[in-house]
Amino acid sequence: MAVDINWSELGFGYVKTPFRYVSRFDGEKWDGGALTEDDKITISECAGVLQYSQSVFEGLKAYTTEDGRIVTFRPDLNAERMVGSAERLEMPPFPAERFLKAVDEVVAANRDYVPPYGSGATLYIRPFMFGSSEVIGVKPAKEYEFRIFTTPVGPYFKGGIKPLVLRVSDFDRAAPRGTGHIKAGLNYAMSMHAIVDAHNNGFDENMFLDPATRTYVEETGGANFLFVTRDKRIVTPKSDSILPSVTRRSLCYVAEKYLGLKVEHRKVALEEVPSFAECGLCGTAAVISPVGKIYDHGREILFPSGMEKMGEVTRLLYDTLTGIQMGRIPAPEGWIREICRR
Ligand SMILES: *Cc1c(COP(=O)(O)O)cnc(C)c1O
Repeated sequence: MAVDINWSELGFGYVKTPFRYVSRFDGEKWDGGALTEDDKITISECAGVLQYSQSVFEGLKAYTTEDGRIVTFRPDLNAERMVGSAERLEMPPFPAERFLKAVDEVVAANRDYVPPYGSGATLYIRPFMFGSSEVIGVKPAKEYEFRIFTTPVGPYFKGGIKPLVLRVSDFDRAAPRGTGHIKAGLNYAMSMHAIVDAHNNGFDENMFLDPATRTYVEETGGANFLFVTRDKRIVTPKSDSILPSVTRRSLCYVAEKYLGLKVEHRKVALEEVPSFAECGLCGTAAVISPVGKIYDHGREILFPSGMEKMGEVTRLLYDTLTGIQMGRIPAPEGWIREICRR
């Protein structure tokens, strides 16, 4: 069945697709899980997620390769990461093997909504899990719901690539030994004020620093930093409170193994940032968004790559990883999971 969607006009918003996956945990075990057409959730007003924000999520994409296969990119890493996120919030992990099968099932059921090769659009997949039973005294819920819905999203760089302008935030994202390394809704709830305030002041994103010393670079609200030195080494910040981005880890592998670049994963002082040649933000949505400028309390850090285009190395990384994803460049073993044909 052909669906009536103009792929090139799609933005990043919720577009309902016919099927979603649901599995419930009854306090003892997960049920068998099933697809449903019902997009509404009915839970108690006193559900753990509503009172104490017990929820974690993931984000990945399905897309059509050059030879017409519908695939996902390294979904095993999302499955694993969600297990870790759930454990940190005292939620029963949804087994990684079942996560992978559930993603396959829901994508295959919504295959008409997977955008065609070359459109730049993709099917965004949102697995999430929350405490669904009543909790009033502070403790983990007994019952949980694991769900996956999908929504087609448009090309990230519609109308061309425009480097971003960031500011060094006066707010903190995640405490040392806190929950910054897991994909929990609560990390986003507390970043809303910082991002709205950044937008109101004309900035695209916040650069968060380590809260303990405010001297090292952490990440933005939803993407990891990747820097390129003037002699073309890749540098990515290391910290226990950064969310381990699948995209960033993949880009570092590509840099080393495909492009022969040196990669350093280490602490990055804010004071070192002006010496870098290029800066990008890594995440599933955009792969890499180039950063042109960072404001730090009156000081302006302008990268040599400028405000017009991606830096040279950033571009090479972007083209190589998207080439691997789209099936134009051979992928490392296990990176591409085929679901069905379009
Ligand atoms: C999801 C997320 C990222 C990006 O991770 P990917 O796996 O590459 O999509 C980066 N930072 C935060 C805080 C995130 O929640």
